[in-house]
Amino acid sequence: MLFYRPNYLMMTAGPTTVSGNVLHARSKVFGNPDLDSDFLSYYRFVCHRLSNFLGTEKSKIIIMNGEGMLGLDSACASLTEKDDRVLVISNGFFGEGFKELIEVYGGDVTVFESSWKKSVDLEALTTFLEKDSNFKYATLVHCDTPSGLLNNIGPICKLLKSKGILTVVDTVAALGGVDFRMDEWGVDIALSASQKVFSAAPGLTLVAVSDAAWKAMENRATPIQSFYCNLLLWKNIEEKKVFPYTMPASDIISFGTAVDNLLSETLYRVFDRHEEMRDLCIERLKSFGCSLYLESDFSPTVTAFLPPKGITAAELINHLRENYNILLSGSYGPLSDTVVRIGHMGENAREDRIRFTLDCLEKTIFELKNR
Ligand SMILES: *Cc1c(COP(=O)(O)O)cnc(C)c1O
Repeated sequence: MLFYRPNYLMMTAGPTTVSGNVLHARSKVFGNPDLDSDFLSYYRFVCHRLSNFLGTEKSKIIIMNGEGMLGLDSACASLTEKDDRVLVISNGFFGEGFKELIEVYGGDVTVFESSWKKSVDLEALTTFLEKDSNFKYATLVHCDTPSGLLNNIGPICKLLKSKGILTVVDTVAALGGVDFRMDEWGVDIALSASQKVFSAAPGLTLVAVSDAAWKAMENRATPIQSFYCNLLLWKNIEEKKVFPYTMPASDIISFGTAVDNLLSETLYRVFDRHEEMRDLCIERLKSFGCSLYLESDFSPTVTAFLPPKGITAAELINHLRENYNILLSGSYGPLSDTVVRIGHMGENAREDRIRFTLDCLEKTIFELKNR
């Protein structure tokens, strides 16, 4: 194949459709990101703009060169020492996945399991922590994308902080489209990425680090067991006037444009349209005879559903792709063969795209039922 030119409407649970001006920004001329102090200033400016979404004035925000998993790996690498006790709060695929990342660095993981179909059970977690709260940090996921679940992380993080536990939150699939209050909720490390709500190309990880998390890294008895995932290398980039490695200048310039696009709408309008698109998806999906995977706590950024009886997830996804040029996502882990997902993140949380997708989905279901 000489050209790679996808021609479908990408309504997946990330990556999300990228706007013309964001695509165009990647083709702009750039200087030497290692030697040009103007680039560092621009980088700081983009990080500062992100603080609007993160709800933080106190934390340090950094943008790293790698897609979302780099942020998760970096948080685990930078905090975990051998035999450190870590609490993994799991009610979904990504929630569960933290265990593996922490164990790579020798952490002693305890998993707190909660139903995959609704937000973490705060009462059960409270009871659990009364018996055992001796953990260095806890991990949790804001929007667990494979099921479209939105955890109510404010009260959970406040509870964990009250027990002296540091909090690491994966908000890769929610930040930008859902209110996030890092300082108010006591989040110590927040993790996100460029290709979900921000609607830029995949390739950047966003990390915000609180003073308490920096302290925990600095007070380690043993060195961080990674170079690429060592967050401490980023702590003083302004003073040192140098990045740990050459920054992907085109990616950052393009991402800065994507952040501008979202901020130009005002935050609350952005949050509102995400909720409106979630509600529209839920209402229409039910009317076609699809059932929703979750019981409650539907994320404003992605909706997971099961096709009507007699139609498999794969049939539905393939029919929509082949006949209507729309790409939806399947899912992962235990949901992989049954669940279909519509992403309504960032640029995709727009009524024209969502209505068009739902109309074509309705036709698809009709056609598959009448095969
Ligand atoms: C997308 C996503 C990630 C990062 O995965 P990549 O696709 O590799 O960037 C991490 N956590 C959640 C909840 C996600 O949705």
